Amino acid sequence: MGAAASLANSVDILNRAEKLLSQSQEDQAFELYTQLQGETQIGSLAYYRMGEILNRRQDPANSFKNHRKAFEVNPHLTRCIRQADHPSYDYEYRVAEQTRVTSCPLCGGKGRQHSCYNIVTYEHFTVGFDPIRLWMHCDSCNHIFAASRPADLGAILRKSAHDSCLAPNIPRFPLLTDIVSGLKRAAFGDRFLEVGVGAGEMIAVAKEMLFDVTGIDIRPSYAEAVSNMLNVPVHAVDFIDFAPNQAYDVICMGDVIEHTIDPVAALSKAVSLLDSGGVLWISTPNFESAFSMVTKDKDPMWMVCEHLNYFCFRSLKGILERLGMDVVDYALSKQYNGCMEVTSVKR
Ligand SMILES: [Zn+2]
Repeated sequence: MGAAASLANSVDILNRAEKLLSQSQEDQAFELYTQLQGETQIGSLAYYRMGEILNRRQDPANSFKNHRKAFEVNPHLTRCIRQADHPSYDYEYRVAEQTRVTSCPLCGGKGRQHSCYNIVTYEHFTVGFDPIRLWMHCDSCNHIFAASRPADLGAILRKSAHDSCLAPNIPRFPLLTDIVSGLKRAAFGDRFLEVGVGAGEMIAVAKEMLFDVTGIDIRPSYAEAVSNMLNVPVHAVDFIDFAPNQAYDVICMGDVIEHTIDPVAALSKAVSLLDSGGVLWISTPNFESAFSMVTKDKDPMWMVCEHLNYFCFRSLKGILERLGMDVVDYALSKQYNGCMEVTSVKR
């Protein structure tokens, strides 16, 4: 069989495999994909598909090998699986230096491989992260964490920015009413700190409701923009290094702790900055949420490269209680599917 005939045959097999996959006949599709590993573009797509199927079969080790192989065969894999307007369409695979994470960031327990995803295919990918995300599960405390992170994480975050954080999303303001008014009722005073201000929606609404607001953000571009926009202090600093000369009545950590290398240290820091009776509000994705239980591997939270941790309510509640906080409220986020909003009060 000549090269052209061979290619035509491969295209035919690929089309049959893709059709079977679309009809949820994964086992038959998988058999066809295994026949396609010789071609560069078709082979890389086949490895990618097998990586996805193996993940659904709960075989993260082989899913990881196939996802990795897809990029090794074709560093421009993304062009085969996403449209030209996708932000990572022109992504070229290369492995940046990564720090491996083998023990649970919450309890130090040993992790076991949980699941694997090609995360460059999601809309928000930051170059410098490994495009193949292996998630680990800690059986001791029921926590999920990334098996690796960029060795130079801080520098990568500081020099990157996401379009979604360059201007406030104004339709989000009313969605924050219930949260901020709840904090107003629960708190003894008005001293309000937001960790990770992003585009500034939460801190803007808190200022509107007469809180005395301060913000911090690790990205100087976000901190400066929000400070100028609202005429409030926003410090460009890593939270762990933040050293204010006052305590706070309310601390908000909206979609922050899943980004941290050491979430217990970050939560402990927050507790230390609260006055007694102070309120800590946390929003973070919950892998045991109704949303995640229903959507399974389609839950987009598996695909967010900057998320190094994936909590559940039980593990988060356990840490807060050990740090001297009483959990007083649990709510489902109205802004992000699968996120939990946990309010706790310092004893
Ligand atoms: Zn653990």
